Amino acid sequence: MKITAIQSYPIWVGDRNQLIVKVETDKGIYGWGESGLSSRELAVIGAIDHYRQFLIGRDPMLVGALWQEMYRSQYFEGGRVLTAAMSAIDIALHDIKGKSLGVPVHQLLGGKQRTSIPTFGCVRADDPDTLIASARKAMKAGWNCLRLGWKSDDVSPYEPRAHIAEIAHWMIQARDALGSAVMLGVDYHHRLSVAEAASFCQKMPRGTLDFLEEPIRDESPEAYEALRRMTEIPFAIGEEFSSKWQFLPYIEGGHTQFARLDICNVGGFTEAMKVAGWCEAHYIDMMPHNPLGPICTAATVHFSAAVANLSHVECWETPDEDMTRQESPIFTKRMRLVGSTYLVPDEPGLGVEIDETALKAAEPFRFSEMPHLRRKDGSHTNW
Ligand SMILES: [Mg+2]
Repeated sequence: MKITAIQSYPIWVGDRNQLIVKVETDKGIYGWGESGLSSRELAVIGAIDHYRQFLIGRDPMLVGALWQEMYRSQYFEGGRVLTAAMSAIDIALHDIKGKSLGVPVHQLLGGKQRTSIPTFGCVRADDPDTLIASARKAMKAGWNCLRLGWKSDDVSPYEPRAHIAEIAHWMIQARDALGSAVMLGVDYHHRLSVAEAASFCQKMPRGTLDFLEEPIRDESPEAYEALRRMTEIPFAIGEEFSSKWQFLPYIEGGHTQFARLDICNVGGFTEAMKVAGWCEAHYIDMMPHNPLGPICTAATVHFSAAVANLSHVECWETPDEDMTRQESPIFTKRMRLVGSTYLVPDEPGLGVEIDETALKAAEPFRFSEMPHLRRKDGSHTNW
């Protein structure tokens, strides 16, 4: 079998762009992948165009060797753009391999270790009472792990001191109202400094939060090491990491307790399984990042089925959150939630089907930037 074509489909679905990649072969078998570098999709397409030059004519079954070749065939190896491109291709190659062998992708990864995949539900509101009501609705629908947050810029983290004081108070109220059994977390989207993150953690009684996601930016493991010494709250870090080497100091240093791996950015299944194994050795559970489209979700479900160390997969289909990016006539078959879990599929490949006529007629890519955020004094802060 030989690769005959690699095509990128940058499209607008629901509320964001999706970068879908199709890899075709001379046997008529094809695979689908998705890339996760949101807001820099055009750069990823450039990388895919480059990889196409030497992947056409190659054997798609040699996934591990092709991964090495894509990563190491340049002097300036690595980086988020390249591994996002590699991720989409690697996922598509696994889809092809599964279809070719007549087995689901999780079987290529060692086989499923569970039949359903637990998710954490995202619940957001702009006041604590609405947040608690929405969380109760999600718990009634089956979620036992929730990530709580704010919805609009009216509750803005761009002035961090005011924000952390308010949100810490929300979290205390939520824990009191929702009880001790539900797992609760919050995501600060790497908007705080070390001191601000420490103050946020210290404003809440022990046991208020089960995880704090990305309180600070991730360029400095040493900064996380410093923050780790100032709080007992487990951290959930890693959705931006684009290789096992970026995970390395966080795993080995004990800086994170949950690995927020993104299979569409880290380097596809090939790299994700290595990170999961490394985490397993340190008793760190996977908490995969899953904010994209149905191909990302399907890949995440297969990956999550095949690892021993799974906490929860991110999910945006709680009762008060819509998931327009998953609901599109393009995706004629996709993973469906049962309660708060995805059932592990057993058909060959990823188990996602796409209507290519609808895909080609889809709303085209919209050039869009993540918000360029500023504080009241005009200074720049993180998206
Ligand atoms: Mg996050």
